[in-house]
Amino acid sequence: MPFLEIKDLHASIDEKEILSGFSLNIEKGEVHAIMGPNGSGKSTFANVLLGHPRYSIKSGEILVEGKSILGLGTDERANKGLFLGFQYPTEISGVGYSHFLRNSYNALSKSLGQEQKNREVFLTVKEFHEYVKRNLDEVGLDPSFLSRYLNEGFSGGEKKRSEVMQMLVLKPNIAVLDEPDSGLDIDAVRAVAGAINSLIDTGAGIVVITHYARILRYLNKLDRVHIMAKGKIIKSGDKELSEELESRGYGWLGLEDTQD
Ligand code: ADP
Ligand code: MG
Repeated sequence: MPFLEIKDLHASIDEKEILSGFSLNIEKGEVHAIMGPNGSGKSTFANVLLGHPRYSIKSGEILVEGKSILGLGTDERANKGLFLGFQYPTEISGVGYSHFLRNSYNALSKSLGQEQKNREVFLTVKEFHEYVKRNLDEVGLDPSFLSRYLNEGFSGGEKKRSEVMQMLVLKPNIAVLDEPDSGLDIDAVRAVAGAINSLIDTGAGIVVITHYARILRYLNKLDRVHIMAKGKIIKSGDKELSEELESRGYGWLGLEDTQD
């Protein structure tokens, strides 16, 4: 049984169907990419997975280790080790970054318990800060970010680095990263890919949503590449498929009318 199973999911917003039979299985340790034209429902899939309240599920299932999570809130899904790196991270004034990270980490550790053997237990705030600093270094963010409010005043690139840094700190079972490379300069794309590679080493399952083959080339592992159109996966392949999309676009797939 795969760790995460998404079966024939139909999801709507304001009675408009956005996901129309979306199915995907992710095993821990696997790395998947989802590509596809704008508006095909990639972010909707990511949001629905974590239980965004604006979307209603009309049919289908999302199972974690064989059990439905559709009735669970976002915090409960996160405590099962699901992580979402946002396409557009929100600035949350008043929530201290360091405080947020420590509470999230502790909640997840409590929930996953002994299940993840490589989870450190931090007894003191100082120990935790040292751990976070190592992860900040890895993505090229200065430790001063820890004393700021969550994402407040971060540049676009800093927000993206910060999302993957949170992922590294939390060590989820499955991470979905929604366009972690969009708007980044080349060094930042390398840093983000490096962070993804570090998470791969922990044995997590990872889904990278992207428009570009470039970030995928930096990954140490890529098991499947999926093309999404009109709310579902219409084609899957290996790394070659991402290169083919980069050189040929979507035209050859007959998707010209997907922007409607
Ligand atoms: P992608 O990430 O592949 O570009 P999205 O999942 O963001 O696509 O969007 C898929 C479709 O759902 C688009 O047509 C978009 O306009 C619509 N959609 C997404 N969120 C909302 C919303 N909050 N209200 C209305 N329509 C939405
Ligand atoms: Mg999107």
